[in-house]
Parts: sequence; structure tokens; C-alpha cells
Amino acid sequence: MTVIEEINCPHCGAPVPFNPGEILATCKYCGYTVVIQTGQTFTFEHSMLLNRYDPSQIEEPIHDWMGSGFLKPQDLARKSKIMEKNLVYLPFWIVSAEVTSTYSGIFERITPAVTKTGKIEKAYNWLVLARKATVFPTREYEVPLEGKIPYDFRKIEGFAKVLNSEVDRDEAMEIAKQQIDENHRFLAQQDIDRIIEMKTDMKVTQVVYLHAPIWFVKYNYKGKDYQLLLDGTTGATVKGDIPSVGFGLI
Ligand SMILES: [Zn+2]
Repeated sequence: MTVIEEINCPHCGAPVPFNPGEILATCKYCGYTVVIQTGQTFTFEHSMLLNRYDPSQIEEPIHDWMGSGFLKPQDLARKSKIMEKNLVYLPFWIVSAEVTSTYSGIFERITPAVTKTGKIEKAYNWLVLARKATVFPTREYEVPLEGKIPYDFRKIEGFAKVLNSEVDRDEAMEIAKQQIDENHRFLAQQDIDRIIEMKTDMKVTQVVYLHAPIWFVKYNYKGKDYQLLLDGTTGATVKGDIPSVGFGLI
């Protein structure tokens, strides 16, 4: 059993429950976010994206997904049964940064091989999931940032779950830097075959704490359960498990 602890909301005094490992907790009565360790109000920007589906409306994009795409069994929409559909506001950090990587490496595709240098300059709104054990394909989620509004607890549906952050702001920036560096290494390898040296500088322009609505859907097809994740703002599929199309009966 999970041990749930409590802290008092610095704004309204209501008890705010949290789980071990959580760093920020949001009061469900007034929407204030508390830094658990200090009991102080979180002073940075806290935003949210709006969910536009109720539990019956979300079935439409679910069925659309099941009924489209040639890699799926043809009877997927007809034969599947939706077992669970849970709306969860997942916590993220959006690290906005200008990042420059300079590298040198060896280009081996010609003979003799040559040493090349290069530079990658990019601006990002890099998304970092603020949960440690939650499995979520962050890189496949195109977060619809244009719809971002200040966090408003009145917009959170009674049936939804809001998860607290397990990653603090500094750690989020560290994670973003590491992931962007990895991404730049991948990009550099389009240009050179072996990296000798690479240096990445990240200038952070903004860090925002964001709760985004994600529908966690479980469906059953021919006796097996599969997961489908949908963006509650746009109805777009973030990721869906597709039953493999068998060879059928010959
Ligand atoms: Zn409160």
C-alpha cells in the first residue's frame, strides 16, 4: 500500500495529499501548487492545457483511430471493447532554450577519410515528463502549446486525476540538456561518421510547469488488452498499441 502524506495548502489551508517522491503538490480546492519540502507556494509559472472531451465524447477519436490506418486489423473498431478510459493530467516541464552544439568528427564515406567540424543551432520548447515511473512516450507527444493557459483548478473535471511532479525545476533543466545533447549527437551523425568531440551550450529562456490532459485508454481485442493514449486537447493519438495482424486461416 502506498503511504500518502499530507501538507496544508499555504493559500486555503486545506489538506493536500502527496505520495513519497513527489516534489510539488497541487491543491484541488484552490489550485495553488506547494513545494512539499518547504511548504511554500510554488512561485514559477504553472500552466495547463484544456481537455475537450468527456468520457463518452472521447470514444469518437478512439474509434477513428481504430478504423483508420492500413496496419490495423480490419475489424479492430468493430471487435474491440473499451475497458477503461481515464483522464489524467500529467505534469511536465517545458524548458525553452537556445542550444548550440559544436562538434568535430571523422567523415569516412570518402577515401581518405577527412576530419570535419560543424555546428548545430536550434531553439526548443523541450518537454520533460515530471514523473519517474510513469511510462509515457514524451517524444511522440506534440504538445499543443498554443492552447496553454494559467493553471485553473476549476477547469479540472471531477473524474480526472491530477498527478504531482516528482522532478524539480533544476533537475528538469538537467534532463532537457542531456536529452537535447543526445539529439544533437544523433543529428551530427548525419554529417560525420564518428564524433571526436562535441560541446553543447544551452541558454534557457523560460521554464514552465505544465499539466496536460491525456486519456489513458485500455481496450480489449480478441481476448487481449492494449493501450491507447490520446491528447485530451486535440483528440490526437499520442501512441496506440496495435494488435498484430495474423496470417489468418489458409
Ligand atoms: Zn488550497
